[in-house]
Parts: sequence; C-alpha cells; structure tokens
Amino acid sequence: MSLPAGPFDVAVVGAGVVGLAHALACARRGLSVVVIDRDTRANGASIRNFGFVTVSGQEEGAMWRRARRSRDVWLDLAAAAGIPIHQRGMLLAARRPEAAAVLESFAAGPMAEGCELLGREASARRFPGLAGGVAAALVSPHELRVEPREAIPRIAAHLAAAHGVTFVWGAAVTSVEPGEVGTSRGSLAARQTVVAPGDDATALFPDLLAPFGLTRCKLQMMRVRPSRPALPHVLMSDLSLLRYGGFAALPASGALRARLERDAGPELAAGIHLIVAAARDGTCVIGDSHVYDPTPDPFADSAIDRMILDSYEALLGERPAVTESWTGTYASAPATPVVVVAPAPEIRVVTVATGAGMSCSFALAEEIVEAMGS
Ligand SMILES: Cc1cc2nc3c(=O)[nH]c(=O)nc-3n(C[C@H](O)[C@H](O)[C@H](O)COP(=O)(O)OP(=O)(O)OC[C@H]3O[C@@H](n4cnc5c(N)ncnc54)[C@H](O)[C@@H]3O)c2cc1C
Repeated sequence: MSLPAGPFDVAVVGAGVVGLAHALACARRGLSVVVIDRDTRANGASIRNFGFVTVSGQEEGAMWRRARRSRDVWLDLAAAAGIPIHQRGMLLAARRPEAAAVLESFAAGPMAEGCELLGREASARRFPGLAGGVAAALVSPHELRVEPREAIPRIAAHLAAAHGVTFVWGAAVTSVEPGEVGTSRGSLAARQTVVAPGDDATALFPDLLAPFGLTRCKLQMMRVRPSRPALPHVLMSDLSLLRYGGFAALPASGALRARLERDAGPELAAGIHLIVAAARDGTCVIGDSHVYDPTPDPFADSAIDRMILDSYEALLGERPAVTESWTGTYASAPATPVVVVAPAPEIRVVTVATGAGMSCSFALAEEIVEAMGS
C-alpha cells in the first residue's frame, strides 16, 4: 500500500501516548499531521500501563507542572473522544508509621494543595475496605484513571476524525532527515518531524542518545477480579512513596527506606510497589515491579506476581482471582525523566524516560511544539 502523498507540516513517528500528544498539540495549531507507526496498532507501553494520570507525588518542578496540565488535557480529550474516566483521585494508604511521617511531611508542603491527610481513625471510617487499618492516608483529588487499551485507540480515532490527522500503520521508520521521513514502505515529505519511539529510542539516533544512558525498565502487571467493590480512588501504599520523586525527595523518606530494607527486602529488590487501579467492569489492574536491563527478557516471574498479590492481600484483605497478566517496558534514563534531542532544527526525538508518560505527555508535547515554532 502506498504512503499518503503529503507534504505534511509535521510527521510524528510513534503512535503511543507521546506521539499522539504531539499530534494533538500540532493539530490544535491547525497543522497537517501524519502519524507513522511500525505496528498495525499501538501495542507498546501506552496500552500496557495502569492508565493512571498521576499528579501528587510527581517530582517537584517541571514534572509536577506537566502532570497538572496533562491531567486537564486528558479531561478535555476524554469528553471529546468519548474516553471513560474509570476512577478519580488517589488514595495513598500508609501502613507503617514511617510511611505516615512521609505523608505528613508531604501534606505540609505546597504540592499537597487540595489533598487531604487522614489519621488512623478517619482513614478507617472513610475506607473500611482497607484491611487491618492504616496509620494514615493521603487523598489526592487530582488524578484520573483511564483504561489504556480503550483510551489510546480512541485518541487516535478522534485525532483522525476531528482533526484530520493521517495515520500510517505498519510502516517502520528507517531514516529521518530534514523534510523527509524514510520508511519501510517508501518516504514522505514533512516540514518538521517528532520522533516518539518509546523504549526503542536508540535505533534511529544512537549517537545523539548515547550520553543519556538509556536502558529499559520491565514491569509485571495483572488484571484481577476482586469479590468486593473497588475503592473510589487509585490505591497505592508504603513502597510507592520511595518510587515517586515528590515523596522520595522528602527527608522523612530516609526512615521509611531503612524500615522497608528491614521488612520488605525482596519487594524492594524487585522494585515492587502496589498500585490498584479499578475499571468499571469490576476488574482491577494491579502491579507492579521494576527490573532494569537494556534487553529485558519477556518472562513474567511468578515469585514477583506472588509478592504483588501478597501486598494486595495485606492491604485489601483478600486474594483476588487473576484474569490476565503481562509485562511491559518503558525507557529509563538515570539522570532525567525526559530525553529530548534535536538532530536538526526541524527534528526532535522525545522519550519519556521514567514511568510517567501517561501523566506528563500532553504538556510536554505542548512545550516541544511551541519551542519548534511549528
Ligand atoms: C507496565 C507499565 C505501567 C505504567 N504505568 C503508568 C501509569 O500508570 N501512568 C503513567 O503516567 N505512566 C505509566 N507508564 C509509563 C508510560 O506507559 C510510558 O511512559 C508511555 O506509555 C511511553 O509512551 P511512548 O509513546 O513513548 O511509547 P510507546 O507506547 O511504547 O509507543 C512508541 C511507539 O513507537 C513505535 N515505534 C518505535 N520505533 C518506531 C519506528 N522506527 N518506526 C515506526 N514506529 C516506531 C512503536 O511501535 C510504538 O507504537 C507505565 C509503563 C508500563 C510499561
């Protein structure tokens, strides 16, 4: 099948959330856009995640600002594209006193705007479904939860129908030069190009990206069917406080880390922290774990799944039936959450190099499109 003739104002390589966010930002400026993906539909990190648009807990500064703005774009887009919001807000349930201290410290700072800190009794009254009670809880109203395997195709369909964005599926991009994108099915002309290849960031511009030390992070995920109704908010707990920069940077997290090293060593080693994200059909997506390797194996380790289910049972008092399990990978860089390079003034390569692409991409794309003067 031949490629569309073009020329386009902007070509976007990659139809994951980062690519779609750039396509949206360009289309909103009235530009003609083509999105090219090597697969026949989005199949990467963007459909394998929790669909958790996380605000509270993002690293202070640019990431927190991007998450707030991206959440607002998600709300607009969800309404326009018919994307259901399955949950709103986040509940961070602290089981250990050291975790409660981190929440107290966060609640005293500026990033806790709009959040509510609950003590032991108030948490038990508000969330009786939490087994054995918790030492404290933080309720953040800012978050959204979409079902990614539903949301990502709907964004693509909406961009095509409402903004006239052209999609080329099943064409691997093999070269990007100023004005021209080469693919496995021929080339097309575009004035500017944004390359958003997810964790395959080193294939097209390996030398430019080498200084960032990009690797991959592999996560294990499950869908479960609990017997009880889900909590109203996406649930996280003690181990999560070490994984989100906005909490982990607080001095109080040092004591929590020491405590978790004593009583949750295997979970820490596998990078496990519990997230429970509910869907309207009564299922929940739960996870996750973090193992870093440039070429992670595709195998889900049953010991890791067991530890995730143990964490679920400790917090929610039951062991739910597992209906699906999968692994996913995202790009990871040691020193920066976002990698952006410019091989030429009219080309950008954009990779979210931490597990926050669903939370920050729309704002990031607006920044980049603005900076390119598209
Ligand atoms: C299990 C898991 C859970 C996560 N949970 C969350 C969460 O709840 N909240 C959150 O904010 N973030 C989460 N993340 C992170 C988030 O999913 C990622 O940051 C984000 O999806 C990255 O989007 P992307 O578009 O860069 O990558 P992808 O979704 O991987 O898309 C990249 C696309 O580029 C295409 N591509 C690559 N190279 C080429 C080429 N040469 N030619 C043509 N096409 C190409 C691929 O086919 C692919 O479709 C999670 C990640 C994982 C794996």
